[in-house]
Amino acid sequence: MRVRFAPSPTGQMHIGNARTAIYNWLLARGPERATFVLRVEDTDPERSSEANVAFLLDALAWLGLDWDEGPIRQTDNTARHQAALATLLVDGRAYRSRAGAAEVAAYRATHGAERGFRGEDDGEGAVRLRVPDTGATTFTDVIRGEIATPNVSMDDPVIARADGSVLYNFAVAVDDIDAQITHVLRGEDHISNTPRQLLVMEALGATPPVYAHLPLIRDESGKKLSKRHGAASVQQLRDLGYLPEAVVNYLSLLGAGFAADEEFFTPQELAQRFRLAAVSKSPAVFDERKLRHLNGQHLRALPVEELTRRLQAFTGADVDLGPAVAICREKIQTLADFWPLAGFLYDGPADDPAAAAKWLGSEEQIATLRAARDRLAQVPTWDVASLEAALSDLLDELGLKPGQLYQPIRVALAGRTVSPGIFETLAVLGPEASLARIDRSLTTRG
Ligand code: GLU
Repeated sequence: MRVRFAPSPTGQMHIGNARTAIYNWLLARGPERATFVLRVEDTDPERSSEANVAFLLDALAWLGLDWDEGPIRQTDNTARHQAALATLLVDGRAYRSRAGAAEVAAYRATHGAERGFRGEDDGEGAVRLRVPDTGATTFTDVIRGEIATPNVSMDDPVIARADGSVLYNFAVAVDDIDAQITHVLRGEDHISNTPRQLLVMEALGATPPVYAHLPLIRDESGKKLSKRHGAASVQQLRDLGYLPEAVVNYLSLLGAGFAADEEFFTPQELAQRFRLAAVSKSPAVFDERKLRHLNGQHLRALPVEELTRRLQAFTGADVDLGPAVAICREKIQTLADFWPLAGFLYDGPADDPAAAAKWLGSEEQIATLRAARDRLAQVPTWDVASLEAALSDLLDELGLKPGQLYQPIRVALAGRTVSPGIFETLAVLGPEASLARIDRSLTTRG
């Protein structure tokens, strides 16, 4: 079994394309152990800059998708394309025709709109493939079943321009034959190209691969995913703080036909479970809330050291985030959630006047904070257990509800009402910084 991913380097990897890459990779790394070929379809010089190619390889590397052969550049196959073209011309399976849009329109006017265009061999002009007038070009799509196109309805397709440069469907067909691809998994947007690619293969006497056209991924309102309405590309997901493991997990589930009661899988587990035949025909819906939820699970599954490493890279912080990561990991769903939650440990308290007004606004609250400060100053060892013991004793003595004691402390330390656990926060800040922050609140609010 040989599969391929054949992206055009456009400068971003759309989520739909990422899923195509992932499904190919799952087949390759699953029980069938397919060989995974990467082919960069770089024939459009405007879009296929080196930067865009690098961007594409970077997105695949970030997702953790490795390949076995390639990257093959479509532009490196030019000689093969020319040789195949020459064979078809010599064999009479293709011909040169001067016919343009006007001739094709005139042909339809005479023969009816349902009739595919058939040209004359003019010995010059663009190269067209001869399509038979009888029979049908048929393939059995693994996902969609049999798809038959009557040959008489298809135009003799242009496969190369008058200058000899080949067209897309011809190049893809030749490349897939050359790479001995046995299974083509790609987006449904390519389904209309398949009959033309099959005609090219048939004319070249090649055995076509099996095709599986993956349903599109849509947003919740049924529209195509677009940048304007949330994340649409791998790069955006990365910038939003999603982990590659979670992205691979989530996109794999989109339409893979797994049982709905299980969702958390490592890439290796996904590869073990993935079955092409189980892929669903219906459009898949991308729900960023589900991705967030799954991302939180993957994040908590990472060892603290590894999560710390990723957060150092994501935030670019040069301080050691380890202690903060340990106390925040239960409360964040994405890497981007970390700094808003933990930044106050390093940058000082946030400035949230509403939080201060609510929890440090009255004389009783200031008195409570002062009592807490005095008690904390006596804690023998500054660790979570001792801090918790000291403050719960105080809570009992003062006869307050937990929030009445802990929220003023929290606002003094963090400047706002949301933070990691209060004892953990005190422990990470240490005695000097904790007491200094409390003292500052006592001076400014008291
Ligand atoms: N280069 C095409 C794309 O990026 C894919 C071609 C194919 O898979 O056959 O959409």
